[in-house]
Amino acid sequence: MLENPISTLYPINEIFQTIQGEGVFTGVPAIFIRLQGCPVGCPWCDTQHTWEQRESDQVEATEVVEKQQPSSNWASMTADEMVKLIEAKGYTAKHVVITGGEPAMFNLIPLGQALEQKGYQLQIETSGTFAIQVTPSTWVTVSPKLDMPGGYLVRPDCMKRANEIKYPVAMQKHIEQFDKLLKACPPRAEAIIALQPISQRPRATELAIKVCIERNWRLSAQLHKYLKIE
Ligand code: SF4
Repeated sequence: MLENPISTLYPINEIFQTIQGEGVFTGVPAIFIRLQGCPVGCPWCDTQHTWEQRESDQVEATEVVEKQQPSSNWASMTADEMVKLIEAKGYTAKHVVITGGEPAMFNLIPLGQALEQKGYQLQIETSGTFAIQVTPSTWVTVSPKLDMPGGYLVRPDCMKRANEIKYPVAMQKHIEQFDKLLKACPPRAEAIIALQPISQRPRATELAIKVCIERNWRLSAQLHKYLKIE
């Protein structure tokens, strides 16, 4: 297993402003910071270009922020450089989502502190397979990935830290796996639980709606995919 590297240099795949399409903050304008690198290996992953951090794909920061199409190019940036860049872009959003890739592979405390000092609210989206290093007020969304080819296990400490647990489902078997996880790694009582149908498949959506109603959980429908925005 990889250990979390302690670094204030972050590999950035892209930074852009859009509407958050998933989970509790659905509909909220947000600045997304996508980090490069993820060893978890989910077969349905829609950001597979972020999996590898190849030296040959390293580019200048300007190239990453002007990116128009998804690519595996990334740039190395400090927290302060990112804050300056976000300010220079004139983004209006005050909600910042750190995603990936797997952002919990990195120590996000310096980045969180730099952004919070400027009045931004932070959210991280993680698979829960790496120890989470974030500021106390960061909103943590754990999207647990079970039995994935990378062989990483969901950590009980990540489940406990989660403000929100957003579980991807396609079939009944996934609900049973999730129930086992909730039993083995119980979240805080106040944690919000949501089901997210994988790839907008109709059967997955029907199942998620049914189980959410039965259990009074939330549905995370990936609004951005229906709206066809990033
Ligand atoms: S954890 Fe996220 S980024 Fe990594 S493979 Fe799975 S879906 Fe993709």
